[in-house]
Amino acid sequence: VPDILAIVSKAVFEKDARVAGKVVGLGGVWRVDRYNSGHKAFQPLTGGGRIFLVTVRPPDERLWLLGAIIDPKFDGTSWIAATPNAIPVTDITSLRKTIVFESGKGMSQDKGALGMSLQTPRALAASDVAQMLAAAGAGATQPAPAPVPAQAPIAAAVAPTPAAALLSALAAAPDDEALREKTARDLLAMGSIVEAREALAGLAHLNAHDPSSLPCLCRRCWELAEPTCERGGLVFARDLVVKSRKVLFYWAPEELFTNATDLRRSVRASLGVRLETLARNRKKHQRARPAF
Ligand SMILES: [Zn+2]
Repeated sequence: VPDILAIVSKAVFEKDARVAGKVVGLGGVWRVDRYNSGHKAFQPLTGGGRIFLVTVRPPDERLWLLGAIIDPKFDGTSWIAATPNAIPVTDITSLRKTIVFESGKGMSQDKGALGMSLQTPRALAASDVAQMLAAAGAGATQPAPAPVPAQAPIAAAVAPTPAAALLSALAAAPDDEALREKTARDLLAMGSIVEAREALAGLAHLNAHDPSSLPCLCRRCWELAEPTCERGGLVFARDLVVKSRKVLFYWAPEELFTNATDLRRSVRASLGVRLETLARNRKKHQRARPAF
């Protein structure tokens, strides 16, 4: 399955990669679902594959991974994925020396030439993709840095971050489990792991430790799992539901998230049935106990 690296220009990035009106920063997720190009280098994607998007940030040529367009279809103008990107924006400047491309030629190391040298889409080696995904996964488990300049006016310094705003909305309605679930999900999509953990604090974590198949989503492991993973050519996305003061994480094939509302309703429903069964069994067990 081909993986192709494609550049997003500074102008397009700053115009399109916005969440709530602000350009997405490191750790944020750009929910992009397409790449506009009819370049022949993308033709191998007809049978499936991925476009990894990067941009070069001024002033010092930082290389940012912006996300991936997975198994896109060409509509005559754009390559469009069924599901938008979930990979957080990640600084991969350190990979400039180690990405080799399928050709083995690597990236230009000349100062000021990086953006120009990436104008032509190029096929990535499997090791390139692994390095980029590892960098993005590691980035996602770090709290996003708070970019507060030393001389910032006080008003700017205390303005709540989008993540903090979500948490305070939740604090105003602590018993609203639908809101708690949505808040945790939104925070994870933003790469705000610390805040997501806070939104889920106090809930029982239902996933047991299970490293046997897909990345484990137990209480200790879930933060290390990337937002998506691939098994047998199928891409799975991580999600969660909250019910009865409990949280359950799960993996589902990414295409099911086109009907995310139905998917989550059915996960919550089956979770409810399981919880009822557990509670019934516990009661039966208590009744069966001798009364001394
Ligand atoms: Zn685990």
